[in-house]
Amino acid sequence: MKLVEILLDFIKDTNDRKCKLLEFHHPEHMLTLLDLDLPDTGLPLQTLINDCATTLKYQVKTGHPRFFNQLSCGLDIVSMAGEWLTATANTNMFTYEIAPVFILMESVVLNKMRQIIGWKHGDSILAPGGSISNLYAFLAARHHMFPGYKEKGQAMLGSSQLVMFTSDQCHYSVKSCAAVCGLGTDHCVEVPSDEHGRMIVSELERLILERKARGHIPFFVNCTSGTTVLGAFDPINEIADVCQKYKLWLHIDAAWGGGLLFSRKYRHPRLTGIDRADSVTWNPHKLMGTLLQCSTIHFKQDGLLISCNQMSAEYLFMQDKLYDVQYDTGDKVIQCGRHNDIFKLWLQWRAKGTVGFEEHMDHLMELAEYLVERIENQKDMFHLLLKPEMVNVSFWYIPKRLRTMPHSTAKEAELGRITPILKGRMMEAGTMMVGYQPQDRTPNFFRSIFSSAAVTKTDVDFMLNEMDRLGHDL
Ligand SMILES: *Cc1c(COP(=O)(O)O)cnc(C)c1O
Repeated sequence: MKLVEILLDFIKDTNDRKCKLLEFHHPEHMLTLLDLDLPDTGLPLQTLINDCATTLKYQVKTGHPRFFNQLSCGLDIVSMAGEWLTATANTNMFTYEIAPVFILMESVVLNKMRQIIGWKHGDSILAPGGSISNLYAFLAARHHMFPGYKEKGQAMLGSSQLVMFTSDQCHYSVKSCAAVCGLGTDHCVEVPSDEHGRMIVSELERLILERKARGHIPFFVNCTSGTTVLGAFDPINEIADVCQKYKLWLHIDAAWGGGLLFSRKYRHPRLTGIDRADSVTWNPHKLMGTLLQCSTIHFKQDGLLISCNQMSAEYLFMQDKLYDVQYDTGDKVIQCGRHNDIFKLWLQWRAKGTVGFEEHMDHLMELAEYLVERIENQKDMFHLLLKPEMVNVSFWYIPKRLRTMPHSTAKEAELGRITPILKGRMMEAGTMMVGYQPQDRTPNFFRSIFSSAAVTKTDVDFMLNEMDRLGHDL
């Protein structure tokens, strides 16, 4: 009960705009503030309660309305309640035997998500994050093309080389598939993107032909719906045409942008054609605000997941059980034990309804539009990098001394230099967090994210005012 009080206090502070969202200390100093020692003999309960309070005292409040730092933010209270229940039930998602209700929920929710994608059939599974979901897509695609690969390995292909394609804006986990699965990252071909960050499809086709001419076997194209940095959407239909022409697997990484499928207003044209994909990654723990972690991977073709990943462990997946063993979903995955990530999503969906998710998406997009408008109206103080397609707003803050200087590469370099300094000041002040990064030839810029339901227009105003308060003298 004491712990629940501590947790409720943390939630209250998270939602209190007067509370700071972090108390920053450098690691060496943080170590002196904490007692992390593992003792030989157990400590009294009161010490543990204090440990819990101390832990949360120094934790960044990622659900605070001024946390614009990550793609997963917010603290959806119903989803959190779901996570509490999940922890209390403490079960493993491999068999119906020990997780009957959760297994059925998984089936219902994933079925609904496939319907929203636009498929009548198919199969899906929850994975520990979008990176692993992308890996499942890769494995299924290779298995689909070379069913013997599972048993025979590379010998199946002799000296032939598989190659995959993705844009230079894709999430790094796509490239990681090439490393993890033995292709080598040289065989994950980066297709150039245009000035909006969208894949250039004529380049995709050119690179496919180039690799074919070298005797390679193209088999997989990753199309990103909502790129991690800029929030760009690759043109699905054009990419699908190329995949059809060359008989390649089309995977859509909608880990970030998938949530917009709920929105009648914003779904098109961004995700138009998504039903043409062979597989789709979609992370509820991002735009939908489900608690970390909750990621899904969907396949148009049923049966592929099980045939690709099944190992038939005799001690777990016996075929002569009391019930229909199709519900033992654990044999579809490359893990053994699997965390229960479904209950918090199911409960949240019940609370919001499908229409509630749609409203959430529209609200987030409106916040992004509002921020863009505010930036455009203060051109001396802020510089928008590009008009965003999603809730990623990329911009520079311009301190006083640079406001009269015309925009140039020299000015961009200087803005790129001050961006991390301003971020540091934000963290020391503890009043808000906005992420930054460089990209290609563009020096450091801020990328603000809206995915928390707690954020309002006044928080957007606060963000810009606070940047100026902390950074005007830079
Ligand atoms: C976040 C993200 C991922 C990775 O998801 P994790 O859950 O962090 O592993 C993959 N692709 C895209 C486009 C993303 O934005």
